[in-house]
Amino acid sequence: MQTVNPTTEAELETYAHHDGEAIEEALDAASTAFEEWSARDVTERQTLVGSIAGGLRENLEEYAALMTDEMGKPLDQSRGELEKCAWVCEYYAENAAEFLQDERVGVHPKVKTKVSYEPLGPLVAVMPWNYPFWQVLRVAAPTLAAGNTMLLKHAPNVTGCATAIEDLLHDVGIPEGTFQTLVVGPDAVHDAIADDRVAAVTLTGSTRAGSAVAETAGKHLKPSVLELGGSDPFVVLDDAPIERAASVGVDARTKNNGQACIAAKRFIVVDDVYEAFKERFVAEMNDLVVGDPTESETDVGPLARDDLRDTLDEQVRATVDAGADVLLGGEPLDREGYFYAPTVLENVPEGTPAARDELFGPVASLFRVPDEAAAVELANDTDYGLGASVWTSDLDRAERLTGEIEAGAVFANELVSSDPRLPFGGVKSSGYGRELSSQGIREFTNEKTVWLS
Ligand code: NDP
Repeated sequence: MQTVNPTTEAELETYAHHDGEAIEEALDAASTAFEEWSARDVTERQTLVGSIAGGLRENLEEYAALMTDEMGKPLDQSRGELEKCAWVCEYYAENAAEFLQDERVGVHPKVKTKVSYEPLGPLVAVMPWNYPFWQVLRVAAPTLAAGNTMLLKHAPNVTGCATAIEDLLHDVGIPEGTFQTLVVGPDAVHDAIADDRVAAVTLTGSTRAGSAVAETAGKHLKPSVLELGGSDPFVVLDDAPIERAASVGVDARTKNNGQACIAAKRFIVVDDVYEAFKERFVAEMNDLVVGDPTESETDVGPLARDDLRDTLDEQVRATVDAGADVLLGGEPLDREGYFYAPTVLENVPEGTPAARDELFGPVASLFRVPDEAAAVELANDTDYGLGASVWTSDLDRAERLTGEIEAGAVFANELVSSDPRLPFGGVKSSGYGRELSSQGIREFTNEKTVWLS
């Protein structure tokens, strides 16, 4: 497995695939470790999870540079990602025992009834490259604290991050076999899900990959959580604070080089404020500094792989060929690295990739609608349902709209982001199940009903 720096196109490292024998050993180790790990008191497990935070901060510069080298995120955003990873570890270190404590449920005065949360066993986690540390640690922190063990299959282009995380967890004292990285392709994932030693699977990635994993999980009756893509609406109403909406909108679209599932992708703006929003938005997109992600002034780095850049280019071309207008950008940059110009499209026809699909890169589509009702209708006119952002100065109106928009999260007057304290996940083709918060830690537990009479 070869990793490549998307900024320079230079080869970074070569990693050997785990062969059948190594995978077999890892499955055995995960299963054996589960016996010991799950038997420990939750407070002991949560303390060890908390100690990952210290290790992340100690090695912050090294890990940030590794992430930026492997997938091109601006270095400062890599640092921010690691801080957030430390936060999620600390969050579960403080709260896991409380989230997992038995819940008394009164059904009859002579009967003691409760619900207890027991770990399930080894979990296979299939993760993407866009947040190479966050995607893994926001699964690992609750999963390990709950008493499960974990086998990580990371995206190949961030194999260095995958092995760094494995080393870190060992260094802080997570026992052998409790967290392991498998350097394997997708076939091994399906074999692992089918294996009796594996209890459950989680995947973050494309709908195509999610559907494949869910099919195997369903066949073998293993629980799964899927966090898939989004075509998130960013709805701007007539009473919105336009300048702030435009600035935050640019950030929401271009953070992480535009490669986030919860990035704002479709900007749905009512007629009265459309021109004012457009002018400000295009100007700020145009001001973005595109370049070397290790430079502190860079806002947007390269896309993570050449095929991802090519796919984005095809999506934009197909949309423009169908009649969309290009207000800014619209093509890859003619330079070394997998760079794509910050792009704004308008008059995007129905059914085109920019209207229908997930565009994973710094490409925003503007949609003009007559009023609030049309905005909500268009916001919901997608197969996806991950996040949505609504802009209005009337909070009652915002709260009413949150009930009308089909999404796992609706944020008013803010960009959508994940927070360890709040559940995260989607509806429709954006997946199912919840991560983070108390919901996330209970996803891979046996919510056992206990009746004592
Ligand atoms: P994928 O969904 O293909 O990859 C994500 C992870 O899933 C990787 O570890 C990948 O491994 C694995 N995977 C892929 N196919 C299968 C399969 N059939 N069975 C089991 N595991 C599988 O995403 P890409 O990196 O190719 O990106 C494509 C698009 O997916 C993006 O343009 C974006 O739209 C979306 N995406 C969404 C993300 C999100 O945060 N929701 C994150 C990343 C991508 P391997 O690479 O070895 O196949």
